[in-house]
Amino acid sequence: MTDRPEPHAEPHAEPHPLPDHVRRIVDEMENDMGEDAIAPPPASGTTGRIEAAVREILVEIGEDPDREGLVNTPERLHRMYYELTAGYHVNPERLINHAIFEVGYSEMVVVKDIPFYSLCEHHLLPFFGHAHVAYVPDGKVIGLSKIPRIVEMYARRLQVQERMTQQIAELLMDRLAPRGVGVVLEATHLCAAMRGVRKPGTVMTTAAVLGLFRRNEKTRAEFFAHIGRPGPTG
Ligand SMILES: [Zn+2]
Repeated sequence: MTDRPEPHAEPHAEPHPLPDHVRRIVDEMENDMGEDAIAPPPASGTTGRIEAAVREILVEIGEDPDREGLVNTPERLHRMYYELTAGYHVNPERLINHAIFEVGYSEMVVVKDIPFYSLCEHHLLPFFGHAHVAYVPDGKVIGLSKIPRIVEMYARRLQVQERMTQQIAELLMDRLAPRGVGVVLEATHLCAAMRGVRKPGTVMTTAAVLGLFRRNEKTRAEFFAHIGRPGPTG
């Protein structure tokens, strides 16, 4: 309908045209338009395969997929999974587009307490918490609203927390060429909390430090002081 370029191919090619409600989420992440675009209309042009698979799961666990409360669940799940994984379809170039500025500023930039919600790829259950992102510019800064969008782009995928942490750090390192980047994610994993593998409420912390943040202990300490956390031990 527009002259939109091909969606970013990584990490897999588009299986179908995106349903409208997912296209809107992707557009919103890329264009930073605000939260009002998320009310999803019915997914269009779907194959029904997710619905059929969810029905089978319901039968397998001993449920009746035709009872009143479950009858629309396969379709809801279909739409929900598309929404929660809309980050696959976001093109980082479009997200960052026009938001990198040349400046002389060379002090640490810190954006902390960015809320995020993701899905663990091992159980398809949520993990959620906060991201803290910092970098030391080397002539270029990125618009502050873009950093939460980058976090969201990687959160709206099937993830493991360690990889998500690294992906955020590497994207900033790659596009901004700063002197260094630090990213800390703190999250509760429902697959652990609900299944009693760990104590409920256990928060897992992951960190990725690149460039100056890796080499320079003072930079790293400044970052962890900014976000009010003890640094990694050792
Ligand atoms: Zn899990």
